[in-house]
Amino acid sequence: MIKMNSYKELSKAIKEAKSIAIASHVSPDGDNLGSSLGLYLGLKKIKKDVKVLKVDKIPEKYLFLPAVDQIEEAESNYKPDLFIALDCADEDRLHINKDLARSSKMLINLDHHISNTMYGDLNLIEKDSSSTGELVYKLMVELGIEIDDEIASCIYTAISSDTGSFKYSNTSGRTHKIVSELYKTGFNPGEINIKLYQNQTMEQTKLFSHAMSGLETYFQAKVGLIVVSQEMLKKTGAKMEDTEGLVEQVRDIKGIELAILLKEKEDCIKVSTRSKAYFNASDLCAYFNGGGHKRAAGCTIYKSMQDAKDEILEKVESLI
Ligand code: 5GP
Ligand code: MN
Repeated sequence: MIKMNSYKELSKAIKEAKSIAIASHVSPDGDNLGSSLGLYLGLKKIKKDVKVLKVDKIPEKYLFLPAVDQIEEAESNYKPDLFIALDCADEDRLHINKDLARSSKMLINLDHHISNTMYGDLNLIEKDSSSTGELVYKLMVELGIEIDDEIASCIYTAISSDTGSFKYSNTSGRTHKIVSELYKTGFNPGEINIKLYQNQTMEQTKLFSHAMSGLETYFQAKVGLIVVSQEMLKKTGAKMEDTEGLVEQVRDIKGIELAILLKEKEDCIKVSTRSKAYFNASDLCAYFNGGGHKRAAGCTIYKSMQDAKDEILEKVESLI
């Protein structure tokens, strides 16, 4: 069995590395962007030669994050001593940076997904932590980095995003304790909350309304399923990234235990699932080579919308 490493061991590897790359998963979200940028700013403070690598287009909603403009594509001859993968359950989630991660002298895998495959040279997986933001905070404390207001903004965004603004069962006393430490830096959580939760565009609002009007329920209405097609995006002027928050609306309906969102991409269907109290969404998505957490997981199905829907509902029936 691969052994779990400690913050001390990660800190030692970081201190010894001359050059460091930080990267995370495709379809960026608040946790992976906040964690990556928070750690990037922290490592810069202790004068490390560090880059934060682009994996995918950054949703407009997160363009307020400090240092977001410093996220860059890795050049072909770039070979860091140390590659830090954040919030990535498996190597494939690193997408365009997967080969670079593999060819680096040392690979750190810091994550909180229950489905993590332990692909690093050093692995620190805390499946009971709310977010990778919490882990990055603890790592920076171990490194002796003084958390300033910019780093606090990043970590707060990470933690708030993955806890559904401190609502989900992954929120712990430790989560609140870390956030209370962030408050000491004088950062502005009110402003961030507006950016994250009260900033829905008109196009996104139309998309939500359109998608919700097509809600289907299954298994005594314990399962809610909605679809976002390319045609719906065209009709509403919304982008696929605007679906963020949509599957949660389905989960939040009284009586729904499992919410499923099927997103029509060019050659595949991207599936997002959320559960409320007992259904293991990670187990469901693992069946389709995906994964995630018990209450939030995803996978990709390379079939037509109808086939993807039939297959996923068949599997749900056997699990619910
Ligand atoms: P979302 O539905 O927001 O895209 O993802 C929910 C959770 O599942 C996130 O923690 C995300 O990292 C994880 N996830 C989403 N898609 C995949 C996937 O294809 N594979 C794995 N391993 N995890 C995924
Ligand atoms: Mn996360």
